Amino acid sequence: MTTMMLGRVRIDRVLEHELATRPPTQMFPGMDPAGWQAQRSWLAPHYWDPATDLLQTCVQTWVLRTDSETVLVDTGIGNGKSRPALPAFDGLGTDFLDRLRAVGVAPEDVTVVVNTHLHADHVGWNTRLDNDEWAPTFPNATYLVPRADYEFWHPDAASRPRIGNANDNVFTDSVLPIEHAGLLRLWDGAHQVTGDLRLELAPGHTPGSSVLVLESGADRAVFVGDLLHNPIQIHQPDVNSCFCEDPVAARVSRRRLLAWAADHRALVFPAHLRGGLAAEIERSAGAFAVKKWGFTT
Ligand SMILES: [Zn+2]
Repeated sequence: MTTMMLGRVRIDRVLEHELATRPPTQMFPGMDPAGWQAQRSWLAPHYWDPATDLLQTCVQTWVLRTDSETVLVDTGIGNGKSRPALPAFDGLGTDFLDRLRAVGVAPEDVTVVVNTHLHADHVGWNTRLDNDEWAPTFPNATYLVPRADYEFWHPDAASRPRIGNANDNVFTDSVLPIEHAGLLRLWDGAHQVTGDLRLELAPGHTPGSSVLVLESGADRAVFVGDLLHNPIQIHQPDVNSCFCEDPVAARVSRRRLLAWAADHRALVFPAHLRGGLAAEIERSAGAFAVKKWGFTT
């Protein structure tokens, strides 16, 4: 199933790329190995390959359609981007826009782009090459960017990211062209996108990391971006990825959002999970557990 209705909102998943990344101990340096062992039977094969000990991940965009708006949540890696520090993202050439069209959305139809944060794999399709210049892929959209990330990742900022040079070029090729085209809108704190959709800050992974909350009719969901890279972080919510800029804040945000989701029966939609894509979760022994997977492929 690739389409789901929650309240008045139609949700489609558009996959951009699937890849094997790194061993769990490298991706999650603070993880309890015994906790991983306890879950490994269901983490394989979608989330982890026992033969190679590599995590399995994907990059995807959520397409949300309301009566009046077509919203993209995160825009993946993009085509033809120069990512010298990230070989897996460098110079991709996928048919992402065809896949978007396959769910009935042409680039011109998109009215809102949400970048949950400004990492390379969340802003890539913001732009595409047009006569050797980076131009907005979605010319009729307002691009919503958390101000804290804009200020942190701006090339003129004095920031010293923990991830080093992994985000090099990203701002220049995927954010500045949007600003120059007059399509960028920065937001602080929280931002109501439509009657059913609200952005909230959930800092830690990056200073401006955010989540999109859906409340429509009796249904609730939260699109958590990189609060989760693997479902082990539902069972061990204090486990950060090696890409989290502020480990303490990242843990606080993850626990806060997972608790809200468990208490409100909200489906959790992460950015990078293969297999079961959206999780209904419950509280379990001071942490959380997956009660049921929705939106499976
Ligand atoms: Zn990511």
